[in-house]
Amino acid sequence: MSIETQKSLAEVQSFEGKYPKQIWSLFFSEMWERFCFYGMRGMLVFFMITQLNFGEKEANLQYGATQAFVYAFTFIGGLFADKILGFRKSLFWGGLLMIVGSVLLAIDTHQFFFFGLAFIIIGTGFFKPNISTMVGELYKDGDSRRDAGFSLFYAGINLGAFLGGYICVAIGKGYMLSSVIDEAHRWNVAFGLAAIGMLISLINFHFTKRSLGPIGLQPGHPDAIVKTSALPKWAEYAVYIGTLLLVPLIQVMVSKTEYTDYFMYTIGPLTLLYLFYEMTKVEKVERHKLIAALVFILFSIVFWGIYEQSGGSLSIFAAKNLNDSVLGGAFHLDPNGVNNSGGAFFIILLAPLFGLMWIWLSKRKLEPNTIIKFGLGFVFLGLGFYVLYATRFFAIDGMTSLDIFTVALLVITVGELCLSPIGLSIMTKLSPARLQGIMMGMWFLASAYGQYVAGLIGANMAEAREGDSLMDKLVTYTEGYKQLGLYSLIAGAILIVLSPYIKKLMHGVN
Ligand code: GLN
Repeated sequence: MSIETQKSLAEVQSFEGKYPKQIWSLFFSEMWERFCFYGMRGMLVFFMITQLNFGEKEANLQYGATQAFVYAFTFIGGLFADKILGFRKSLFWGGLLMIVGSVLLAIDTHQFFFFGLAFIIIGTGFFKPNISTMVGELYKDGDSRRDAGFSLFYAGINLGAFLGGYICVAIGKGYMLSSVIDEAHRWNVAFGLAAIGMLISLINFHFTKRSLGPIGLQPGHPDAIVKTSALPKWAEYAVYIGTLLLVPLIQVMVSKTEYTDYFMYTIGPLTLLYLFYEMTKVEKVERHKLIAALVFILFSIVFWGIYEQSGGSLSIFAAKNLNDSVLGGAFHLDPNGVNNSGGAFFIILLAPLFGLMWIWLSKRKLEPNTIIKFGLGFVFLGLGFYVLYATRFFAIDGMTSLDIFTVALLVITVGELCLSPIGLSIMTKLSPARLQGIMMGMWFLASAYGQYVAGLIGANMAEAREGDSLMDKLVTYTEGYKQLGLYSLIAGAILIVLSPYIKKLMHGVN
């Protein structure tokens, strides 16, 4: 056994206690990557409007395009990890690209705006799905502690999101450290901080990866989990060079939002075709499991389409229709700040409790299966949107309660915790080892569609509002949220009705 793989897979997977210790390495790497990603993402719209003089609609479309591309690239990142790079090298390559992108933005945000973003988009594609897949590989098939592990990992995601999402934009806007950073360099420092976050992520991974045993090794490595013949070195270099050649293309595509439409019309059907092709090569039981995974993926598009109003229409709602008093006026907070980081805050608070709750329930044979958890995810999402609707009953002159809005975020977060970490977990349970990366990529591709759909829904709601009074606007938006709440409840009900059929396809996987 080589130096790289100190432990065998069986040794890694037969850990005692609630969590494998390697999960902390992945937790911190993902936390810092999300710090970089959400730091960057949290600055985009504001920067485009105030520094690049984009109109609001244009900025929103641009933002949606970036998000859709980011998540769409996770499919490609997953594919190349499975076939050529392995999870570890993919993660490293993706991290390096994200650092380059953030450094470019830090050097000259105006000049390198789309160029830097293109690096970050591709880099996230190589990083994001593959670290999640490695979490899954820490567990044996059937280990009931897996969902709890993903809940913990999800807390790491949101710790990074919470910190990066708040700190970077606050530095850029001059809310933080304004006495030490002169105005002309605030945005450079803010984007530079995202690069530092990513650097910490990679350093952490580099020094802890040996504890992963064979997890994430390149296909063809003698100790790799899936045994294949060694790959020629040029294949790996071709991926690196191909990625770099893709950067200018992505730069152009993301800067013209109409290309996003063409891209989204093409990438989904193509990946489905590819998946169907892969399905012909596996046995019947594995095929059934992949079909079940696909059902979860399709439902998750609906979930993210509704949920991701947060980055679009809800941020406009927060800016225009929410007051700033929290806990009945005990203190005051920026409603946009609450909209950006409130969900992440609740997740950090609740995820460990959810993790322990799943373990507790499973010991008593009461843990709901994944389909029911997904159904509950939709139910809570729907209820959360009904709470958003209810804000209209607390409005005075078109301004309504930040407290009630925060309750809505809490309810939505409960829904997210029933679906998102469980989704990551179920992808790793239902996919055969050699398709793990691709399936995780498809899971995130659904998020790309969700982001895309969310943008369209949000734009639709915004269009009806030109020239309306604040109260009219509040009524229009909350009416929209009521509709979305209803769709979500319907989706949850359909899932629960379909559950016996999906369960059959899952062949005992829970
Ligand atoms: N907030 C989660 C993350 O960043 C989930 C995002 C998603 O899948 N849309 O990982």
